Amino acid sequence: MNTKHYLKKVSLLSCILLLSSIVSSCKKEEATTIPNAQDEIASSIAYFVKQGFKAEDVVFKDGKFILDKDIVISAEEVATRIKNETAPGSPQTEHWRHNYIVKNPYHKNIRLYIEPNVPLDWKTAVQGAISNWNNMDGNGLNIELGMSISGSASASDTRVFMGYENADWIARAYLPTSNGRPGVSIEINSKYNGLISSEKLFAITHELGHTIGFNHTDQNVGIFIQGTYPWQTTPPLVDPNSVMNSVVLSWNGFTTGDVQATKILYPRIL
Ligand SMILES: [Zn+2]
Repeated sequence: MNTKHYLKKVSLLSCILLLSSIVSSCKKEEATTIPNAQDEIASSIAYFVKQGFKAEDVVFKDGKFILDKDIVISAEEVATRIKNETAPGSPQTEHWRHNYIVKNPYHKNIRLYIEPNVPLDWKTAVQGAISNWNNMDGNGLNIELGMSISGSASASDTRVFMGYENADWIARAYLPTSNGRPGVSIEINSKYNGLISSEKLFAITHELGHTIGFNHTDQNVGIFIQGTYPWQTTPPLVDPNSVMNSVVLSWNGFTTGDVQATKILYPRIL
């Protein structure tokens, strides 16, 4: 199912899907599983095809699988997913989440440290993106989610830093770790320093979505979030303005689906 064609505008945003395989100290550490045989690679590719990817868009390289050019998953993580997940149903679009989200109480104040060399307009975008997430639920009654800027790297959860690659990703972010902490970093590709401010704002708001556990709305990867449009008998096939689509737009606010999906992941418990 191709749901992205209508959004090709500038470039794909990117995310690194849980390269980290940190396990909490109370869990028994599992043996590293790296596919070293063709049949293990083939079964991993079959898994991605079941998830909705085309086989030709799945590449195995240096111990990692690269999907649609811009999503990276370690072989170890793929093995864990195959072991843990039941087979998904037929591909659907609309909001998706990663296996792990940010655990209580960390979601109440996710602290971002911005490296000093991040240009001012990107800093402004980070501040704006934090404000977007903090205020997505107008009256604050339904969603419990907080983010802030930390002046100290050591007292932060997520580091924002500049990188450079002559490639078609604007920024990329880690998803939450398996012990429920926010994604550890957001890297901005300085190749895209020339984006207009509203696209920068969209890009960072999108990356923070990965930091708290969202996958792409326009890809069938991860766990489907049921109930984002509860008043409809079937969810819409696309959400063309979702902040979690994989192609950047000018920022124009969250969609109803974005807000509903966040409410499902981070509800305010009264
Ligand atoms: Zn992304």
